[in-house]
Amino acid sequence: DTSHGRILYLDEVSVSFDGFRAINKLSLDIAPGELRCIIGPNGAGKTTMMDIITGKTRPDSGTVFFGSTIDLLRYKEAQIAALGIGRKFQKPTVFEQLTVFENLELALKADKGVKASVFFRLDSAQGDRLAEVLRTIHLAAHVNRPAGTLSHGQKQWLEIGMLLMQDPKLLLLDEPVAGMTDEETARTAELFLSLKGQHSLMVVEHDMGFIQTISEKVTVLHEGSVLAEGSLAQVQNDERVIEVYLGR
Ligand code: ADP
Repeated sequence: DTSHGRILYLDEVSVSFDGFRAINKLSLDIAPGELRCIIGPNGAGKTTMMDIITGKTRPDSGTVFFGSTIDLLRYKEAQIAALGIGRKFQKPTVFEQLTVFENLELALKADKGVKASVFFRLDSAQGDRLAEVLRTIHLAAHVNRPAGTLSHGQKQWLEIGMLLMQDPKLLLLDEPVAGMTDEETARTAELFLSLKGQHSLMVVEHDMGFIQTISEKVTVLHEGSVLAEGSLAQVQNDERVIEVYLGR
């Protein structure tokens, strides 16, 4: 349910590790179909925030809602994934021995909980979906290649494709273009722009050129809370942001 105009809502979320406040009264919301970039220096709390959203870390206090009705703090990590929140870590984790097709098929099986995989056949709707995902991730020409033979960028796209097979409402992506060539980065920007609208995306990135290409709104985290929010130009000209990145 997105009737209140947000797919994700964090209010005054805090968590401490051994007395250290990694997340400090963090409030943030994401609109349906939005592509939000999250930036911030090392240790700002970006990873911990994603751990909280995905149920890996439980906050000490605060509210985390998915849509306007689902209280995410009542769910476990696997249930949160099943609700339609997909997460991609920085390093690609695809099955290197399997082909591109088999990786995508496996992602669908995992989602459907199909155990007897030898008997699993894609129905026509699933086949159509797989073909559409292949085009979206720019791998239609490589469908029968073992994933291990793909470039770093192609592996990243394949992993995004595996998430897309499960049709997530919200995708959380950690430094998706790290280690990519300029051309791969440009194609990833294209890919994200094609996903937005149908999916909401939260992207943690350091590559400002990439952020400039894809994002309308940028959130700057610092010491576990939101320091600034706005267009990239706005936050880059914000004195507090400049101080955090350049100062001290
Ligand atoms: P970012 O992803 O922005 O670099 P993190 O969320 O990884 O920041 O970390 C925020 C702060 O919380 C850091 O100071 C980090 O050392 C600390 N931290 C994160 N996870 C843990 C943990 N499990 N135990 C102790 N400290 C942690």
